[in-house]
Amino acid sequence: MPTVYDLTRQELADRLAGWGEPRYRAGQVWTQLWKRAATYEAMSDVSPALRERLANELPIGVEVLDERTADRGATRKALLRLGGAHVIEAVLMGYRDRVTVCVSSQAGCAMGCTFCATGQMGLRNNLTAGEIAAQVVWARREAAKLPASTPRRLGNVVFMGMGEPLANERHVFASIARLTDPEGFGLGARHVTVSTVGIVPGIARLAGAHPQVGLAVSFHAASDELRDRLVPPNTRYPLGELEGAIAGWRAATGRRPSIEWALIDRVNDTDEQAELLAPIARRLAAHVNLIPLNPTPGYAVMGSPPARIRRFVAVLEGRGVNVTVRDTRGRNIDAACGQLALSAIAE
Ligand code: SAH
Ligand code: SF4
Repeated sequence: MPTVYDLTRQELADRLAGWGEPRYRAGQVWTQLWKRAATYEAMSDVSPALRERLANELPIGVEVLDERTADRGATRKALLRLGGAHVIEAVLMGYRDRVTVCVSSQAGCAMGCTFCATGQMGLRNNLTAGEIAAQVVWARREAAKLPASTPRRLGNVVFMGMGEPLANERHVFASIARLTDPEGFGLGARHVTVSTVGIVPGIARLAGAHPQVGLAVSFHAASDELRDRLVPPNTRYPLGELEGAIAGWRAATGRRPSIEWALIDRVNDTDEQAELLAPIARRLAAHVNLIPLNPTPGYAVMGSPPARIRRFVAVLEGRGVNVTVRDTRGRNIDAACGQLALSAIAE
C-alpha cells in the first residue's frame, strides 16, 4: 500500500468493513482525508485505536524529509518521501491573490533536457496517482503556514515539478480525476495545468480525458535543429507535429495553450528564434511564458541578462504575440523551475 490516497472510496469502505467498522465510518474517514486534508492524528471524530490502525495499515504516505522557505515564507519547498519509497520535491507558492502548488509526477525524469536538474538525474520511479494527489493534499495543509500576504488557501495545481507528466500518463490522469472529484478533494479542473515537454500522443489524450485542464508546452526553441539539442524528445516529436497536436488540443478544449521558454543566454534568446516562435504562437493563439534559465549544476550556461530578455519580448510583442516574463520563485533555495533534484539528504 503506497498511500491511502491510492484507494477509491469503495476500496476504503471495503477495508474498514473488513475491520468490523460500521458503514458510516468510511465516509467519515474519507471526508477527513480528502475534504479536510487531515492527518490521522487530527481526526478527532475517529477513535484513537482506529487512528492507529489506519496509520499502520493505510498510511497517509507523506513524510517531510526536509523543508526550505524563501520569499519571506511565501515559497516553501519540501523534500517528501511518498508511499515510504519515492523521494521527490514539491513547491508551494503563495502569491498576493492565489496559492499554487507545483507537484512532481515522477522521481527524476528520462527526457534528458540538458539544462534541467531533474533531467540530469535520470528517471528513478513513476509516482502512483495517490502519491501525486497526496502532494496536493499536503499542500492544502501546508498553505496554513503561508504569510498573511497570501490567501492561504490552495487554489491551483501545476504539474511543473519533477518528471514528465505525459510519460506517466495513466497515473497523472487518475490523480487529476481524484483531485477534481467533487466527492473528494473538489478542485476545479480549470485550476489544474499540465506542463509537458511535448509528448504528442499524450496531448491528444489529455484533451479527451480532462478537457478542462490547462496545457503548457515547454518549447525552448522554435527550430528543430536547436530544439533537438536542448530537448531530446524533439527528435521523436518534431515541432511540426507538436504544433499540430497543440492545435488539436485547442480545437477540442477551446482553451488557450501556454508556451514555456527558458531564456538561455545567446542560445535561444536571439532575434532569429523570436522571429521563428512568433508565427507558431500566433497560429496557436498561445500565451508565451518566458523565464530566465535557472542555473543548474550540470549545465554551464547562463540565463539571459535583462537587456536580452527585453529585446526578445519586444520582438514577440512587435509581432502581436501575447507574452509575459515569469518570476523565478525560490531561486535561492533551488525551488525554481528546473532546479528540482534530490538534495543530499535523500541520497
Ligand atoms: N517535464 C515537464 C514539466 C516539468 S519541468 C516539462 O518539461 O514541461 C517544468 C518547467 O521547467 C518546464 O517548462 C521546463 O522546461 C522548465 N525548466 C527546466 N529546467 C529549467 C531551468 N534550468 N530553468 C528554467 N526553467 C527550466
Ligand atoms: Fe524532464 Fe521537463 Fe526536465 Fe525535460 S524539462 S528533463 S521533460 S522535467
